[in-house]
Amino acid sequence: MQRHDDPCTRTTLTRREAMAGAGMVAAAGAVGVTLLADPAPVWAQPARPVADDLDVYVIVTDGMRPDELNPAQAPTLHRWATGGTWFTDASSVMIAETLPNHAAMVTGVLPERSGVPANAIWDHAVGDERTLDRPDDLRAPTMLDRVRTEAGLTTASVLSKDYLHGLFGGRASVQWAPFPLVPITDHSLDWFTVEALKQTVTDHSPRFTFVNLGDMDRFGHMDLSGTSLRLARNQAIFNSDHKLWDFEQFLRSTGRWERSVVIVLADHGMDWSDPMSLISAAGALDADPLLRGRFGIAQNGGADTFAYLGPDHERDASLARLREVVGGLPGVHRLYDTTELNLGERGGDLVATCRPGWRFSDPTPFSNPIPGNHGHEVTLGIPFFIGGGHRIVRRGAVVDRPARTLDVAPTVARLFGLAHDEMDGTAATEAFHL
Ligand SMILES: [Zn+2]
Repeated sequence: MQRHDDPCTRTTLTRREAMAGAGMVAAAGAVGVTLLADPAPVWAQPARPVADDLDVYVIVTDGMRPDELNPAQAPTLHRWATGGTWFTDASSVMIAETLPNHAAMVTGVLPERSGVPANAIWDHAVGDERTLDRPDDLRAPTMLDRVRTEAGLTTASVLSKDYLHGLFGGRASVQWAPFPLVPITDHSLDWFTVEALKQTVTDHSPRFTFVNLGDMDRFGHMDLSGTSLRLARNQAIFNSDHKLWDFEQFLRSTGRWERSVVIVLADHGMDWSDPMSLISAAGALDADPLLRGRFGIAQNGGADTFAYLGPDHERDASLARLREVVGGLPGVHRLYDTTELNLGERGGDLVATCRPGWRFSDPTPFSNPIPGNHGHEVTLGIPFFIGGGHRIVRRGAVVDRPARTLDVAPTVARLFGLAHDEMDGTAATEAFHL
């Protein structure tokens, strides 16, 4: 992990520096390290939450599909959903990947304003593809800093993935650095993450906590047992669900369940591709004299973004040719102008998505060997419900209006009495007696 100093963010420690024992660090036993941000400033007129005894948890079951929220695979989550308010038509924002949708959840704004259109972008300044994992990559205020500074309450981030922890660095009052990390996946197993969550709640009593559980996604990506079996994936869902049962028992035994509103959703779904169903756009561009060297490609699993690199006067012709060539590749589902998807300038100039059962592999056919994928349209659907033991939660309700990851931030803002009119999402007020 590189160091990225930015005067706009307060925390510039890397995980290694933090673990080396800088003054800001409080060790949290066997589950790793939490970073403490500056204390919340005292405001003359702090915002008022809808209830004084309210703790809000957003728990992201990374990569979970809506059909997996059933009593056999996820008994705890299913019980929470049926005992609360279930949004049955929920979806990610494009590009259906981890970073843009976590950004949508905590900011409530589309990628053109959050600055995070995809996991990976073509960075014109660097002249290469890179992951958006720096604190200054996120350009909008988040509920992790707004609840802290505007309501004067403690917030916490407990994120299992290293790049998420990087993107959200410096936002929450208390930040857990994922540890230990699994090699290759760069994430911490849900068992450790939930232990860290319990420790964070015990030590700091945060009023708003943002949690990412990465096992379902990481084991889904790597599952080689085939689309019908999905052995590793299904085991991960069951294990994560059981660990959330453990978290519920913790909340109940410490008297916190009645204080809790639990918002559970995925950031995107998951699709599995056949080994040979891959699209190598870079190869097709290299083979075309009009396109060679003209575009930077950022590969995002089920979607590729293309950034134009050539002279201005050839731009329109190059983009037209790009549409022709990429649109003609087997497995390509759809082409989008970046503005259609509200991606902003970091999303490049053209987006291509793949058909179900396919994946992009760029720059080479060997770059993306993993079968599990998301980013494309078939992975937009997500589970989404609001439960918990707090008296304001509406019980046994089903809401079929379209909901999106963007709706999380305005919902949290509404609960803490903060403004959310400028957001792109809608507060999920159907889930509460307010
Ligand atoms: Zn994800």
